[in-house]
Amino acid sequence: MDKLIYRFNNQGSQGGNNSKDILGGKGINLAQMAKLGLPVPPGFTISTKVCEYFYKNKKKIPKKLIQSVKKEIKIIEKISKKKFGNLSNPLLVSVRSGSRVSMPGMMDTILNLGLNDKTVIALKNKTSNGRFAKDSYRRLIQMYSNVVFGIESHFFEELIDNYKLTKGVIQDTELEESDWDGLIENFKEIVKEKTKKIFPQDVNEQLWGAISAVFLSWNSKRAKTYRKINYIPEHWGTAVNVQAMVFGNMGDDCATGVAFTRNPSTGKKEIFGEYLINAQGEDVVAGTRTPLNLNSMNKSMSKIFLQLKKIFKQLENKYKDMQDIEFTVENNKLWMLQTRSGKRTARAAIKIAVDMVQEKLISIKDAILRIDPNMLDTLLHPTLDEKAKKDIIATGLPASPGAACGKVTFSAEEAERLKEQMQDTILVRIETSPEDINGMHAAKGILTARGGMTSHAAVVARGMGKPCVSGSSEIKIDYENKLFKSGDHEIKEGQVITIDGGSGQVMLGKVPTLKPDISGNFSKIMSWADKFRKLKVRANSETPADTKIARDFGAEGIGLCRTEHMFFDEKRIISVRQMILSKTLDDRKEALAKLLPYQKNDFIEIFKIMNGLPVTVRLLDPPLHEFLPKTDKDIENIAKELNIGHHDIRSRISELHEQNPMLGHRGCRLGISFPEIYQMQCQAIFEALAECKKNKIKLVIPEIMIPLVSTAAEIQILRNLVDKTASEIQKIHSVKIKYYVGTMIELPRAALRAKDIAKFADFFSFGTNDLTQTTFGISRDDSGKFLNDYVENKIFNKDPFVSIDERGVGELIKIATERGRIEKKSLKLGICGEHGGDPKSIEFCEKVKLNYVSCSPYRVPIARLAAAQACLKKKV
Ligand code: PEP
Ligand code: MG
Repeated sequence: MDKLIYRFNNQGSQGGNNSKDILGGKGINLAQMAKLGLPVPPGFTISTKVCEYFYKNKKKIPKKLIQSVKKEIKIIEKISKKKFGNLSNPLLVSVRSGSRVSMPGMMDTILNLGLNDKTVIALKNKTSNGRFAKDSYRRLIQMYSNVVFGIESHFFEELIDNYKLTKGVIQDTELEESDWDGLIENFKEIVKEKTKKIFPQDVNEQLWGAISAVFLSWNSKRAKTYRKINYIPEHWGTAVNVQAMVFGNMGDDCATGVAFTRNPSTGKKEIFGEYLINAQGEDVVAGTRTPLNLNSMNKSMSKIFLQLKKIFKQLENKYKDMQDIEFTVENNKLWMLQTRSGKRTARAAIKIAVDMVQEKLISIKDAILRIDPNMLDTLLHPTLDEKAKKDIIATGLPASPGAACGKVTFSAEEAERLKEQMQDTILVRIETSPEDINGMHAAKGILTARGGMTSHAAVVARGMGKPCVSGSSEIKIDYENKLFKSGDHEIKEGQVITIDGGSGQVMLGKVPTLKPDISGNFSKIMSWADKFRKLKVRANSETPADTKIARDFGAEGIGLCRTEHMFFDEKRIISVRQMILSKTLDDRKEALAKLLPYQKNDFIEIFKIMNGLPVTVRLLDPPLHEFLPKTDKDIENIAKELNIGHHDIRSRISELHEQNPMLGHRGCRLGISFPEIYQMQCQAIFEALAECKKNKIKLVIPEIMIPLVSTAAEIQILRNLVDKTASEIQKIHSVKIKYYVGTMIELPRAALRAKDIAKFADFFSFGTNDLTQTTFGISRDDSGKFLNDYVENKIFNKDPFVSIDERGVGELIKIATERGRIEKKSLKLGICGEHGGDPKSIEFCEKVKLNYVSCSPYRVPIARLAAAQACLKKKV
């Protein structure tokens, strides 16, 4: 087995050059900070390889590790001049997890290991601070019992709360040594009752219990969920960091805090952080005491504040990124406990990247690669309209920006349940804990009554890009009766509220929103990205409103205009139904003639907005029965309108019924059976262009796309139909119009026979929604029922309808690309399935050298950035 342990301390660290994969993020950064000469308490990192061994060997620790840990503890003892388990000068250690990427709060940590009934007295004598020693011991019992024995924390918390109530005090700091003595005995009783064992007094037993528990926490439910949401592979495992304890809770010359080297919400270059005097780290994060703004440390501990500022600069210079730091001050000495790249909002990510280029810390390429394209989503959606009437019922901290509106829900489970019903929710909690992670993901926004800017809710929400208002102390939550009160307001579960994570406001009802601002730094990053990308970015759009948004977001064309969406309009559906119900060709043509002007005007509108850019118009795709009325009332109405008996309508509905409509009479099959439909659509396109030409509107080049083709004969027949219609209209209007005819590749056979099909096509557009459906044989509409099981059983890494299955669907795309281009070198290739807006799939599209991707208008900037990153990554 490889090296198991890596040492770090100010006399030299072993791990600094090893990769994060082995030491984990926390371990490698501790080693590097120690190397930089920053004050880091001595310790060591147990490699992720041990975690791998642990899970492969029935959760056993390798024997070799036991000796190595012993040796390393001795080294810590030597440096700290304390001894583990010693009765006069005991060394205490912390045991923390640390995987390759940070998973905040998802795995376990135990502090103060090494305390027992005897060493606690030694610690008291050594520090002349009995209160501190006993408080530390009770924290160990509480944390250890929770993490190692699985005893829920509230059993201990309730004891403390009741005790404080009887004593008439509010803060934990008001409890004295003797109070903690009593509570420690009660805590030990709980352990005995729940585990039938006494709390371990052997410090080595404590240490190994903690190390195993950290490994086990890699597979805790919440860690698994977090990994699933963030696509973190199971096999990575966690490292374990064992480090000498330093104390922020030994008196008023001690403190503990967390800081960011820049503001993680706005990106502004300023000191941003919180600290507490006389406290331990978990007090800041848990939100049980309200922390102070770090800037006030300039007065309370000015020397430390200056030292911290200097360290911030050193760390930014080293890591070339904004850092998230944990520190402790023990008797006026500063100790650095952690540094890592800080989670930030999308707005902050963009500002920091642009600023760092200007500060010459990073290059433009680095700046482009720094920003997670998916994160931009939060910036592309509306924000609250400043002028709108707002009924503000509470305020809290502006923990994660953006506006969200939804039904109030008080539990993660309820938020998940409502999400399944497509309902928007705001998850309202006193404070959140890692168990709430699923609910936070499901909700549109998060509101908490307790907790600061670095509380769990704030950190996790920022990471997810979700609006969050935290620490709104005005709201009083009553979980039992499912309501919260704020002043005179009483808000019940299910009532709609709006939260603004940028201002911290909580409002009654739905507040109107405004279009996002995509100027300034955002447009700078976008223009940088555009210089590096090869793939063009188009949008899927068929309404003037969406087309405008797409253009504003930088779409370079329309890659998919689904014409059937234009058929659904209330005014047109009657004619569509008439067309479907027609028994003769003449009747059908009459109905189509009514639809023609609608289609034509739609195209004129879209062509005007696109102002010369390419527009791919897809001819009718879905099965006809989709347009027929479904309810009795609708059937009655249409029967009256068209003067047909409702029996006739019902019999037509049953005639059109298909067992497998997705594999049925749809796409080009409709064009083959009813050529007059496609003929009408082409007539509308060319007449629209003729009119544009007459009105001197810059002409777009239409790309007419035939859906669901699987054979060359289909496209040959339908191409003839398009060409014939085009030439007739051009003749009638005496105009010359340039156009292309192509097909979607969305069936495996089409991909395989791409060479034959390319003979009749000017372009291919990969319809990866259907191609995924037909390659796997999994219905795109029903897969939700079992996809989760597939991800859980590691059959799929990711939902293949979201991110392209490179090995199967991707292989077909590759085959079609190669075979198509053999036949026709100039063949234009794009993608218009949902995958066209997914960064990972875009990387694949770049790899197989498509010409463009097409996605929903709101994803256009995401695709522009992802396309640039795909090019830059290829060169690295
Ligand atoms: C596709 O199948 O990927 C596609 C874009 O077409 P639709 O989603 O309309 O079937
Ligand atoms: Mg399709």
